[in-house]
Amino acid sequence: MKEANKILCPSSKCKPGSRLLGVRQDDGTVAILPSPLDIDEKFISKVNNDDIRPEQKFRFTNKCIENGCSQWTGKSCGVIEKLVSYLDVLPVKEALPECAIRPQCRWFRQSGVDACKVCTFVITEVTEQDNSRAASTA
Ligand code: SF4
Repeated sequence: MKEANKILCPSSKCKPGSRLLGVRQDDGTVAILPSPLDIDEKFISKVNNDDIRPEQKFRFTNKCIENGCSQWTGKSCGVIEKLVSYLDVLPVKEALPECAIRPQCRWFRQSGVDACKVCTFVITEVTEQDNSRAASTA
């Protein structure tokens, strides 16, 4: 298997093959699960029927598809590059979330512990919208 196929995106879509990585809390941050949970068609169908997109309530992990993703810069993930620039303005905790995907996580591989510090503040759907807005106004 190619090395890239083993690397995981920590902000993927709710789709077959993805696993549940985190759950949004009342304070807007995301609680990362110590180990991601498998999801099935029933779960996907249920969370897609709500008014709120699943990616606004949960975080999912799936394999990093590099060039198949609009966030790929050609060499790296553009999402985490932007997010770590907010480190100074976020109320980050020094203790990192317990996270089983760390050895394979694209963001951790790129930005190390800084990625884990901002990770709990990331809502996938919002990040996607922000990036689309940025792209449409560029
Ligand atoms: S950035 Fe850190 S906490 Fe977030 S999914 Fe990757 S390894 Fe886990």
